[in-house]
Amino acid sequence: MQWENFIENTSTYKEIVSDIASNMLSHAYICISPDTAYAQAFAAVLSKLILCETMQKCGVCRSCHNIDAGVHADVCVFGAETPIKPEDVAEIIPSLAVKPYEGERKVYILANIDMASEEVQNKLLKSIEEPPAHVTFLLTASAENKVLSTIRSRCHALVLAPLSIQELQTYCKSKGLADAEARMVAIGSMGYIGKAQSLLENTSYISFYQTVETMFFTMNASKDILTYATLFTTKEKVQEALTILQILARDAMLVAYQTPQLIQNQHLLPKLQTLVANYQGQAWVHMQEVVYKAQQALAVNTSLSAVVDMLLFAIVEVKYKWKKL
Ligand SMILES: [Zn+2]
Repeated sequence: MQWENFIENTSTYKEIVSDIASNMLSHAYICISPDTAYAQAFAAVLSKLILCETMQKCGVCRSCHNIDAGVHADVCVFGAETPIKPEDVAEIIPSLAVKPYEGERKVYILANIDMASEEVQNKLLKSIEEPPAHVTFLLTASAENKVLSTIRSRCHALVLAPLSIQELQTYCKSKGLADAEARMVAIGSMGYIGKAQSLLENTSYISFYQTVETMFFTMNASKDILTYATLFTTKEKVQEALTILQILARDAMLVAYQTPQLIQNQHLLPKLQTLVANYQGQAWVHMQEVVYKAQQALAVNTSLSAVVDMLLFAIVEVKYKWKKL
């Protein structure tokens, strides 16, 4: 299963389909997602739609075929690997006037425009504002506020929604993972297929997930804190653990409040039922607050060990405080 399958099901993609159908295609779009790989894939799928001979991304015409093969002469990609440089701009601007080679349009994908210098963004401004009639610009950026406002105002912004856990699970299963493991990766991806891809390639992620899960279920004394503290060696690991804990705490709360059908970790239902039987329901509301506070602390760059200590102590504390007598 390809990313394209998910992209063409999004409302944002359908918006462009209808722009094309009503002859309202904008001269410039900016695809925005913190998942930079997804934003670039989205722009690539849009280029296929825009250049397709039937304008429907048929998948069989010469244009679709060449785009799939990565050899379309009228798709010019800049900034995918390294930020767009002044030399690239010097190449882009004079080439805009050149007529398309294959069809009626040319697409310029300017990836990660937020990573380009202000000088580069300013130099591109005029072209993005008024390109020749045969040119469509597709920019990508990780966040709207990281792009010069002058650039932003000249593009139609497409804010890409994260994918659902179910969609990501389907994707992971199509890559060969079993149900429960696919769910673990989907949960850790937070809606970002680029993240799911990198977790799929990370062979230690599943065992990390399981360790965090064990910690969530069994850690209830200060002596365990030292053992688990050694797990969290990098900021990325702590972020991943917090995402996993957030979903587990939410699942525990849903089980405690009698809505087990809504939980994400369906395979853990019996274990969750045993766990919540020992605690008062509020425990899981407080547990989610603990995770949220740790996420906030991490976001403002509190030292990693301070965040980890605070988190682990707080988990033990919540369990101690809300244990049923
Ligand atoms: Zn086609």
